[in-house]
Amino acid sequence: MRADVGRVERSGGARRRVAPHVRVAIVAVVLLAAGVLFLALTLRWLNEVQEPVDVATTSVQPAAAELRQLTVGLGRVQYLFDSAMLEADPVVRVGHIEELRAQRSVNEEAWRAFRSASVDLPGEAALIADYEAAAARQDDLAGVVGYALVLADDPAGLVRDDDVVSLLAAQADAQEAVAGLTSDVYDARLRTELASAAAAVDATRSRLLALFAALAMVVGAMSVVAIRSAWREDRRQRGEQRRRAAEARRNEFEARLYRALQMATGESFAYEVVAQALRETLPTARAELLVADSAEAPFRRTLRSDQRDRGAGCRVAGPSHCPSAQRGDRLVFTSATDLDACPYLRERAPSDGTLSAVCQPVAIAGRSLGVIHATTRDGVPSDEALSALDLIGRRSGDRIALLRVMAETESQARTDPLTGLLNRRSLEAKVRELEAAERGYCVAYGDLDHFKALNDTHGHEAGDRALLRFAELLVACIRPDDLACRFGGEEFVVVLPDCELDEAAAVMERVRVSLSDARIPDDEPPMTVSFGVASSAQAESFSRVVALADGALLRAKSSGRDRVVTATPLALPGGDRTVGEVSSGS
Ligand code: GH3
Ligand code: MG
Ligand code: MG
Repeated sequence: MRADVGRVERSGGARRRVAPHVRVAIVAVVLLAAGVLFLALTLRWLNEVQEPVDVATTSVQPAAAELRQLTVGLGRVQYLFDSAMLEADPVVRVGHIEELRAQRSVNEEAWRAFRSASVDLPGEAALIADYEAAAARQDDLAGVVGYALVLADDPAGLVRDDDVVSLLAAQADAQEAVAGLTSDVYDARLRTELASAAAAVDATRSRLLALFAALAMVVGAMSVVAIRSAWREDRRQRGEQRRRAAEARRNEFEARLYRALQMATGESFAYEVVAQALRETLPTARAELLVADSAEAPFRRTLRSDQRDRGAGCRVAGPSHCPSAQRGDRLVFTSATDLDACPYLRERAPSDGTLSAVCQPVAIAGRSLGVIHATTRDGVPSDEALSALDLIGRRSGDRIALLRVMAETESQARTDPLTGLLNRRSLEAKVRELEAAERGYCVAYGDLDHFKALNDTHGHEAGDRALLRFAELLVACIRPDDLACRFGGEEFVVVLPDCELDEAAAVMERVRVSLSDARIPDDEPPMTVSFGVASSAQAESFSRVVALADGALLRAKSSGRDRVVTATPLALPGGDRTVGEVSSGS
């Protein structure tokens, strides 16, 4: 069972919401910062790669290139010297020697270029000294040996010459020094720088991967947060839209219900409106409205939403037995077989399935005098339907209360407060309706006999009780269509539609006899009544007919009271006819 009146909507932890544009800005700033960090670190690491490459290309490489050129030049010198040594033709030999000299100049130039490009690497100075010593020795011997070569008949024979041997040794020393400078110093340094560049590339690759992974994690986490928050926002907005749409539907329904109930000028019309509203709100339910006139009175079924429904409905006797009306709360029962189901619902539980129910109390003038009872086989109605049901209960209760107050006021305006009979004004209005419908009628003018004496003897309250007693007896003796009116004081007028004068006189005679024969309590005084009766056929207007009846009444009084006298045609003076009179005691 679920009683949802008084259910309090919780505000739910009141978490501070960050505005969507602030969230987007935060994500953008973090992404930008991540990008800047990535770029800065990447540039820094690339610099570490760049450094050895720069050293290799700008410092080591030019000197190494000069050394390589010098190596080639030294080889060329060696080759030209060997060629000159083996050349028999002096002219060709001189050519070789000229070329050799030129090559040596080139080599000297290359050495100078190397010296200016050299960067003073470790181990370089000793080799430079070696080379320069070897070069100096060559310079010393070049002239002598060259001269000898030019003049020699057998230059190959010079191979054992001391100067030649020294020169060759100096050449070999120079080549060795350059080879050492090339491979042991500059190439070694190039290799070292390239290896360190390669290591820096490797390190940069690993760092970039690690950095990328870290940034991917941060960006991924932020994306997850952003997506979740966007999803939540989306869900919240959709919920809000649904809530607004439901509210709009509810307002529209409330307006229609209000208009329809405003147009219902009687309770029965209001019940029809409620039935229609229930059909609209709970189309698959069997709903009924039970209403009682008071808290102790029994319920009566005023409507069924399904006119073909011939079921027994809820058998609760009245408001004081209905749990929902008693509590003034809407009760929702998920199943008639639940432990906490309403006993009146449980007795209706079907064997072939579950039955849900909603009981919506209807407060009429502040008291739960009604209940809307709806049963369904397809589960508890939606919150929107329950809310509409609540509206129907409240609005219909208000309208029924108002209609009852209006009916009460109207009835009070129409009737005499002591006897409940029509008052003079409303009788005249009803007679006008008869005349408009061209229906004939009789008027009986009654006056209680010696009523002043009754009042004087027994008191005014006894007089009031006597008036009420007479009114009840009068109503009991006439037809439902007849109009009984307290005309004033102890005088009554009865209008009997579609009735002949004799019949009317007979009815009044019955009243007169009933009054005089009535068994009354010992402490109540007896009384009699006199009637004068006239017909609409005898005069042209209601006031004239009343005057004729009054005239006949006067004669009834003057001829001894406790009798019925009919007015004769044209009511000639003294022409009235007495219908009956008291046999004794008058
Ligand atoms: P008669 O038989 O000639 O009609 O005599 P009567 O005494 O009935 O007539 P009368 O007109 O002299 O007196 C009418 C009395 O009815 C006077 C008044 O005290 C009494 N009466 C009129 N209206 C009421 C009322 O509402 N309550 C009570 N208790 N008495 C009323
Ligand atoms: Mg009177
Ligand atoms: Mg009287």
